[in-house]
Amino acid sequence: MTVDAELSRTELADAEPTLVELLPLSDSNGWHRAACRGDPNHEAWFPYPSQDFDYARQICAGCPIRTACGEFASGTGQSGVWGGHEFDRGRLIRE
Ligand code: SF4
Repeated sequence: MTVDAELSRTELADAEPTLVELLPLSDSNGWHRAACRGDPNHEAWFPYPSQDFDYARQICAGCPIRTACGEFASGTGQSGVWGGHEFDRGRLIRE
């Protein structure tokens, strides 16, 4: 392996994942159509309790898989903004 290749691998390992990388693509519920795909504002999807999540909510509002996304979050214990709502370990905490 060259030094450049090793450096690139290190940079990739250090990069934060995008939201769509966190989504379960292998479950194939149409996640490839997710409106949040490639969104660079990772923190917006995992807001602190004192933060609003208007940014994420607006993107979710136009997402074609919104309903399935929320059902997935509640059914699999996800946290963060899914389907335009905020979940904590699968429990809906903010609409
Ligand atoms: S509903 Fe929101 S969180 Fe779910 S895939 Fe669509 S944009 Fe992403």
